Amino acid sequence: MKYFILFGPPGAGKGTQATAMVEKYNLHHISTGDLLRKEIKAGTELGIKAKTLIEAGCLVPDEVVEGMIESEFKSVKGVEGFLLDGFPRTIAQAEALDQILAKTEEEVTAVVSIMIPDQMIIDRISHRAAIEGRADDANVDIIKNRIATYHSQTEPEIEYYKAAGKYNEVDGIGTIDEVRERIADVMDKF
Ligand code: AMP
Repeated sequence: MKYFILFGPPGAGKGTQATAMVEKYNLHHISTGDLLRKEIKAGTELGIKAKTLIEAGCLVPDEVVEGMIESEFKSVKGVEGFLLDGFPRTIAQAEALDQILAKTEEEVTAVVSIMIPDQMIIDRISHRAAIEGRADDANVDIIKNRIATYHSQTEPEIEYYKAAGKYNEVDGIGTIDEVRERIADVMDKF
């Protein structure tokens, strides 16, 4: 199985691009944000706990998302691999992912990082707020907190994956089609 990670700050276009890529390469899309929003909608205990953290722009505990990822890997069949979107978001999650995959003697195939500047994050998320109605998109202070969380907790993964020789970066500025082409150019190699 192939395990691709679509990496980048909030608002970089990971969700949009993931939808196109899973079809092109017969992969299963796992968005931990989407899975968490489903739990919130269903009113589960996990959802109730996650809601406060998500709406403050903080991360949910590593164990919560790690468990979600492992059960998706086990339950989804009939695909050539997985495209992870929004996971891993901390070095601890990246290490946990390596350990989960090591159980079946597998490993991360490649990381594709979509890069955009901070100001563009705010513009794009504010625009998305009107379309998707996400509570964590609606307030500039929360968006700023998510950007700060990205820089402090998620960005260090870049060095982790560079050291593993798995890191690939594409420019996230441009039309959806342009960025999709850049991502496909990387994924075509694997
Ligand atoms: P996203 O849809 O990827 O922007 O995620 C929305 C929110 O869900 C994030 O701001 C976090 O609060 C939470 N979340 C999603 N994925 C993770 C993860 N891998 N680790 C911790 N929290 C996450």
